[in-house]
Amino acid sequence: MTKYVYDFSEGNKDMKDLLGGKGANLAEMTNMGLPVPPGFTATTEACFAYLQEGDFPPGSLEEVEEHLVRLEKAMDKRLGDTDDPLLVSVRSGAKFSMPGMMDTVLNLGLNDGSVEGLAKQSDNDWRFAWDAYRRFVQMFGKIVMDVPGDAFEDALDDAKHRKGENAQDTDLDADDLKELHARFLEIYREHTGSEFPKDPREQMTLAIEAVFKSWNGRRAIDYRRQNKISDNLGTAVNVVAMVFGNRGMDSGTGVAFTRDPSTGEKRPYGDYLPDAQGEDVVAGIRNTLPLAELEKIDSKSYGELLQVMSTLENHYRDMCDIEFTIEKGKLWILQTRVGKRTAFAEWVMAADMVEEGLISLDEAVPRVDANRLEELFKRVVSSTADAKPIATGLNASPGAATGKVVFTADDAKEWAERGEKVILVRRETTPDDYHGMIAAQGILTSAGGTNSHAAVVARGEGIPAVCGADAIKIDSPSRSFTANGVRVGEDDVVTIDGFNGAVYVGELPLEESKLERARGGDQEARKEPIWRAFDRLMRHADELRMLKVRANADTPDQASNARERGAEGIGLCRTEHMFLGEERVEAVRQMIFADSGEQEQRAYDALLPLQREDFVGIFKAMDGLPVTVRLLDPPLHEFLPNQVDLAVEVAVAESRGEAGAELDRKKEELRKVNELHEANPMLGLRGVRLGIVKPGLYAMQVRAIVEAACRVKGEGGDPRVEIMIPLVATREELRQMREELEPVAQKDMSEAGQELDHLEWGTMVELPRAAVTAAEVAEVADFFSFGTNDLTQTAFGFSRDDIGKFVAMYEERKLVPANPFVTIDRPGVGRLMRIATEEGRAANEHLHLGICGEHGGDPASVVFCHEIGLDYVSCSPFRVETARLAAAQAALGSSESASK
Ligand code: PEP
Ligand code: MG
Repeated sequence: MTKYVYDFSEGNKDMKDLLGGKGANLAEMTNMGLPVPPGFTATTEACFAYLQEGDFPPGSLEEVEEHLVRLEKAMDKRLGDTDDPLLVSVRSGAKFSMPGMMDTVLNLGLNDGSVEGLAKQSDNDWRFAWDAYRRFVQMFGKIVMDVPGDAFEDALDDAKHRKGENAQDTDLDADDLKELHARFLEIYREHTGSEFPKDPREQMTLAIEAVFKSWNGRRAIDYRRQNKISDNLGTAVNVVAMVFGNRGMDSGTGVAFTRDPSTGEKRPYGDYLPDAQGEDVVAGIRNTLPLAELEKIDSKSYGELLQVMSTLENHYRDMCDIEFTIEKGKLWILQTRVGKRTAFAEWVMAADMVEEGLISLDEAVPRVDANRLEELFKRVVSSTADAKPIATGLNASPGAATGKVVFTADDAKEWAERGEKVILVRRETTPDDYHGMIAAQGILTSAGGTNSHAAVVARGEGIPAVCGADAIKIDSPSRSFTANGVRVGEDDVVTIDGFNGAVYVGELPLEESKLERARGGDQEARKEPIWRAFDRLMRHADELRMLKVRANADTPDQASNARERGAEGIGLCRTEHMFLGEERVEAVRQMIFADSGEQEQRAYDALLPLQREDFVGIFKAMDGLPVTVRLLDPPLHEFLPNQVDLAVEVAVAESRGEAGAELDRKKEELRKVNELHEANPMLGLRGVRLGIVKPGLYAMQVRAIVEAACRVKGEGGDPRVEIMIPLVATREELRQMREELEPVAQKDMSEAGQELDHLEWGTMVELPRAAVTAAEVAEVADFFSFGTNDLTQTAFGFSRDDIGKFVAMYEERKLVPANPFVTIDRPGVGRLMRIATEEGRAANEHLHLGICGEHGGDPASVVFCHEIGLDYVSCSPFRVETARLAAAQAALGSSESASK
């Protein structure tokens, strides 16, 4: 028969699935001999069965009763007793702590009889007893029966007002509280239509039921969706003997962290509130004291607490946060868990714990979150000394930014183009705002959550953002907003802090992060704990990982930047930009308009030296490391003016009766644009298809690459060249291209009198057909690089440019577990990659494989690449460290942290 209830002495910390986080840790601490009040836990399985059947599973209530009787014996008190009553708290506890769930009901077991017992046991402290009773009615009403909390709060305020102008809770005496309790019972009756249950066992059943039901409450469901927590876990319920922190100044309650959760520093940290119950701390009724003050108030309990903190940290081998209560000088531990911490603190703590010998380096590496690593390099507000935020929203994308307020995406773009720094302020953003968002220093929205369009785009682009700052009321007609009485107009300067969601008027000083300065070589910054931690753990990560990490870099600057961040080569050098710039576009257009082979060749001859210079710089920056150069991919019409604009220009000129060479040129351009126009350019004349239709184009690029490499080699360098053909679908495409291009390379080398040591030919695998025929393609390839942007586009049939319009809804409705353009879709796109890897390698044992789509910098995708045995991942330069860390975590098998 299923066991639904566990005494604290029966569980341990590894039973979180069954007992929830709180229950498992209470059990662990009980068995460690720490001062935990006795109690028991109803399991998540009981919750699940209850939710399925709409009733308690058979036998479960009997088990609760058995454990309750045992608890009564252990405490030598009985629930509802009029002389010495047992009181309990009922607390929810899922595997992961979850705001939005029913939380805690204290003082359960009180009724008109047991309140007398409570008074007797507290030396006739009737004030304490009635206060406990009114709190119980209030919490039970609000939490279990959904009575609006305000109704009770208003009644409490009334009671205080009757007492005096500035009366506090503590000014209410026993009679006042008794009266207030009676009022609370009325409120309960008014809102529930029933009497407050006086039978303690009925109170308990109702409370457990309410906890179970809260698993499916709206806010809990939303939270799970947002945080990708399964709906199938259920919550456990803990029933714990009450201890009281509100029994005078020798009592109190608090929260303690074994290390500072924001800086990681090793020192006790927390808050203490004398003469209070736990919910007073949360409700902020009085200001809490810093934990260290407890030493002055009650040095014995403080000493004991420090001892418990050290025991727990050594036991969990991690920073713990602890809830505790002191009742008349006796310390009780009510909860512990491995504590949450900032991205910054997790590095410092992990490295310090290695230093202290508490954990090994292998344990430290998975403790830092690869998904949050980029945050460490973002700019921060250096001082908020004289500034008060005018509003606070969600910290949607890390980093601080300052700039002039603009209200439309078009303005953001236009102002930015004329050199202004702007903050784009919108109620919410839509895909139509994208151009303005990427032009802004920061984004501020008054609506929307951490997964809103603004937040997702901002994080993706590395732009600081504060979202859902609902104090901000935008008034579009007057191009201004107000927030808490402050009016801010277009052109006024604001500063936003994407780390904590604060919004300030005016320009606050910003500074580079310590880590960024340290990486740049700043010796002072290198003395900071964060740099020492980062350096130590990353060095170890590099020893652990099996995947190499390259960067996607198109210019010498990007290449050097990537190398500084630890890139071990370039996995994708897109050559598109080498066709842009005034001089080059002119040559490209000549190539497109050429009527003869000769004219076309002249255009290539003009482009060749320019491209060669670009490659020289890149090969030098990556000397000794592989550089994968991809031949031109996008369709040619991208180098011509916009079809509609041009047609309008021509039509207007003609209607005005204009004539002449300029108009003829425009007409010719329009004819060509029309000729090249495609209904589906993404599936059109691009990639290798372009190479086949315009053979001189790829030949020119190969010459530029090989000549550049020969020059660098001639100067004593070590260029390692990999030439990559995009958008290949068939073996024959690649074979014919190599057949045409290899002789070009050979000829160049012999003309230069050089033989390159490393010259390879490969392809991108970015079409499903190439993936499933990988065995054939691999026969003519030295390497494959997965272009997972296009592979995702073509596997799903989702346009990569338009997915933004509906991907949030797809995620919301769980049609996809995550945006497949961010995290590799393992069953579909991932399977294609696995097939191509296995079959490609089987056909060509020398084949080496990597990935160069955006996924190469996404921690969860890096784990997948490790699993299928790729040789490297390639990602944007600013994600190189993220990929290095994720690859190490994958090698340790700790994908949980990487794919969180
Ligand atoms: C890809 O498709 O994944 C890729 C890297 O190429 P691009 O993004 O340039 O199409
Ligand atoms: Mg592509």
